[in-house]
Amino acid sequence: MIQAVILLGAPGAGKGTLAEGLKRSADFIHVSTGDMLREQVKAGRPLGLRAKAYMDQGELVPDDLIMQIIAERLDGGPAAARYLFDGFPRTTEQARGLDALLAARHGGIRKVFLLEASRATLVARLAGRRVCQQCAAVYHLRNIPPRQADVCDQCGGPLRQRPDDTEATVLNRLEVFRQQTEGLIAYYAARGLLARIDAGQQRDQALADIINLLPVATPP
Ligand code: AMP
Repeated sequence: MIQAVILLGAPGAGKGTLAEGLKRSADFIHVSTGDMLREQVKAGRPLGLRAKAYMDQGELVPDDLIMQIIAERLDGGPAAARYLFDGFPRTTEQARGLDALLAARHGGIRKVFLLEASRATLVARLAGRRVCQQCAAVYHLRNIPPRQADVCDQCGGPLRQRPDDTEATVLNRLEVFRQQTEGLIAYYAARGLLARIDAGQQRDQALADIINLLPVATPP
């Protein structure tokens, strides 16, 4: 049985960072559609090439492509596991698609965490974000600085700004998120699955708040 936990939040809310922390405290398979798409782009795969044009503009990649990579990911994973979805679903169409995929695998959604932070916090986090080109570790110029400027602490790879973290694209991504989220929030709130988390606070506190509300895993 697949048990899904979802991290829902605007770009810069800390989904990736919190997912890393959560994986350390619980046994999750982490699925980030953003990471998966960036890997497809880097590898020059056809799906990546189709997705890139949308990503560069800060627009959402079409639902059918996203559902395709999620279905493949679930098919390639164990039949019984806890999945942590980060950056997915982004639309109610994707949320319905996920329900159908989980139902077909006798699974379900256990909790949806809505990570909330002010617009000023989101913009500041995205503007200062730097990502390792080799291992994808994430830093922030002020909040999580690397020991040596522009060099990854973990693998020595070069740190760069993500192409979609530039100002114009960031503003569009935040607007796209605002437009899509209301429907998603209503979708999950109506089912009693939604928990709001203050993602503007320190990472460790936000993580503790999530862990407190995390449902206990049911045995497979
Ligand atoms: P993220 O790393 O989650 O900020 O995603 C980066 C970009 O990948 C987004 O701006 C979208 O273009 C695309 N993307 C990631 N996840 C999704 C999704 N679930 N649905 C549509 N587009 C997505």
